[in-house]
Amino acid sequence: MLLRHTSVDVAERNALTVNPAKTCQPIGAMYAALGIHGCLPHSHGSQGCCSYHRSTLTRHYKEPVMAATSSFTEGASVFGGQANLLKSIETIFSVYKPEVIAVHSTCLSETIGDDLNQIVQKARDDGKVPEGKKVIFASTPSYVGSHVTGYANMVQGIIRGLVERHAEPTGKLNIIPGWCEPADMAEIKRIALAMGADVTMFPDTSNVMNAPMTGKHEFYPRGGTTIEELSRAGDAAYTIGLGPFTAGPGTEMMDKNFSTPHSIQDLPYGLAATDRYIMALKRVTGGDVPEELNTERGRLLDMMTDMHQYLHGKRVALFGDPDLLIPLTEFLRDLDMRPVQVVTGTPGKAFARRMKELFEGRNAQINVKNGQGADLFLLHQWMKNEPVDLLIGNSYGKYMARDEDTSFLRMGFPILDRVGHSYFPYVGYTGALRLLEKILGLFMDRQDRDSPEERFELAM
Ligand code: SF4
Repeated sequence: MLLRHTSVDVAERNALTVNPAKTCQPIGAMYAALGIHGCLPHSHGSQGCCSYHRSTLTRHYKEPVMAATSSFTEGASVFGGQANLLKSIETIFSVYKPEVIAVHSTCLSETIGDDLNQIVQKARDDGKVPEGKKVIFASTPSYVGSHVTGYANMVQGIIRGLVERHAEPTGKLNIIPGWCEPADMAEIKRIALAMGADVTMFPDTSNVMNAPMTGKHEFYPRGGTTIEELSRAGDAAYTIGLGPFTAGPGTEMMDKNFSTPHSIQDLPYGLAATDRYIMALKRVTGGDVPEELNTERGRLLDMMTDMHQYLHGKRVALFGDPDLLIPLTEFLRDLDMRPVQVVTGTPGKAFARRMKELFEGRNAQINVKNGQGADLFLLHQWMKNEPVDLLIGNSYGKYMARDEDTSFLRMGFPILDRVGHSYFPYVGYTGALRLLEKILGLFMDRQDRDSPEERFELAM
């Protein structure tokens, strides 16, 4: 029993989190910044913060994550980090030659009260930002929100600092994907291109956080949205944001700043969310859904119906980020499974409302909690009281799965003990097919393991 201290009795807790179902804001800001080509993320705080953020991203993506730090010592911690950041900007441009530096704050610099807007402007005024190069920034204090909020804040920093509007409209479609894997971002773009859309997608971490081995070290991998593409994004005809929590604020900002009409959808995990994404693309492009996408949808439906007997009524506990949990819960519902416990550490009233809407008019019993007090300790207690057949979440779930002898599907961030998540998508119809295959594999392996000899079957 690894988590032997988890008690069955659930007590109300106000000021204690045990095994949080979230991580800190700057990790999200760093990941979003890596979706810009030639961008070096910069952590305005102490070295320890930057090391933690880089190592968590590196362990999940199995790629080296480059990032700089203002490297606060005692002096900066007391008197503020302006001098450190000004020096950093000068050094980074002369040594590492990025196109963009994306600065995010940390708990320490926020508590001191450093004003990133003022410091970055001073760097520009002092001539520390070379011609054609950019410095963008986002405020990411980790004592509010989560990595989800950090991603959303940096997306807004990208828009504020890199998107412009010119006289000539491009007629293009902007897609702002919420936090998902690089392979998911590539799949989101593939679907949009298949629908005939002319797309600018930002951020785009494909070919950055899953870059191929070429035999040559590239400090800035070839992927990512270029600053030229971003500078024309304000002239686009429409913006689709995928993920209300991570992409929603940036999508609304595009409308507010550049009068770009917009819609905000769920990230396209599962059948219904992918349908909604494709219908949104259809409304923008006016084109028909191509045969290739219809075929992919048909294959997914085929497996859903063929394998229904393995899925029906199976009880599932989930934890992770809202933009994943909402469409994933919907997909499990559509598979006739029973999502019964859902937890995310990310705050926001919209989460509970969306989860409630998913089961409106259905006779479903589901425990949902987010924000304060929504942690893995609570989820484990719920699982002890009402056991489930499947747990879905990031690698931290393996302790609960082992203790409760529950099948476990790794999905979300971070995944520290498996590979493949950054190469094979879970979004779209083919991604849902892969997700379904993984779930079925777990149930069938379980059946093989637990069957008595006389019921051990070759064909299932
Ligand atoms: S929670 Fe704050 S202090 Fe801790 S690593 Fe994150 S930014 Fe740094």
